[in-house]
Amino acid sequence: MQTRPLYPPFTVGVDLGGTNTVYAIVDKTGYIIDKASFPTETPSVDVWADMLADGISAMIDRHSLQGDIVGIGIGAPSANATTGSIEGATNLPWPPPVPLANLMEARLGLPVKVNNDANAAAIGEKAYGVAAGMNNFIVLTLGTGVGGGVICNGHLLSGARGFAGELGHITFPFAADRMCGCGRKGCLETVASARGVVETARRLMADSDRPSSLRNLTAEQLTSKAIAEAAEAGDALAKEVFEFTGECLGKAAAEFAAFTDPEAIILFGGVAKAGDLLVEPMREAFGKQTLHLYRDRVRFMISALEGANAALIGAASLPLL
Ligand SMILES: [Zn+2]
Repeated sequence: MQTRPLYPPFTVGVDLGGTNTVYAIVDKTGYIIDKASFPTETPSVDVWADMLADGISAMIDRHSLQGDIVGIGIGAPSANATTGSIEGATNLPWPPPVPLANLMEARLGLPVKVNNDANAAAIGEKAYGVAAGMNNFIVLTLGTGVGGGVICNGHLLSGARGFAGELGHITFPFAADRMCGCGRKGCLETVASARGVVETARRLMADSDRPSSLRNLTAEQLTSKAIAEAAEAGDALAKEVFEFTGECLGKAAAEFAAFTDPEAIILFGGVAKAGDLLVEPMREAFGKQTLHLYRDRVRFMISALEGANAALIGAASLPLL
């Protein structure tokens, strides 16, 4: 039985990942009414679409919400919001282009909005998170990669093909000696992604013989989460890893501010869980680096969307903007 009041409008969020497809019905407050998942690996994209459509229909029936769902939002890598298709190469089992919106609209008869994870996170923060009421802010997603979602004048910046805001692949001098997965050197992603944080720790350990609990970890155990835990426990070298990462993010944010004059910059994703370890050096570096017009004008925040479900909740917000 339902114990909590539910607030319309209701949407369906879909988080399409390389391993699992997770879907949920979400209410106006970002509350997950019901959630299910299945492995993304299927014989064809049509089989995948059938499984997703059947699952969503059954979930809607189970909660007697037929006619009450205003739309479906799908967060997916390399998604073109304009065409509703996945167009770039991804770690998904099917070759692009994948016409996600058409596939699901044909099966469910509901409007479908598709966007990449970072843009979904930005709209999610506005709909349900720390950016409620804000019309100008930037979300930086710090996970396996680094993404950007930019809300300006109340609108999501999308550009001609929906690829605006790839802030993880803007290059900076502080990363000049790091190779990015995109084939270029110096991208923000090479320092601020989970992999980037691990690389910073690896370099700091190699450059000195300072003691650190991180030296006891195997290569597999040395993750950004383990480094954050060591920093919280007082490990000086681990703290320095996040001071460096935060400083780089602050310098990057100082440049991003000049594009859209944001009220806030919000950190989202696994690496963002480091919280103040990251935000304090970020704020300080931003203050030193940014043009006087933006100094003391930008708030730095950590996403309030519920950790494990953040991407899913972000996707559910897509039909709302
Ligand atoms: Zn890059």
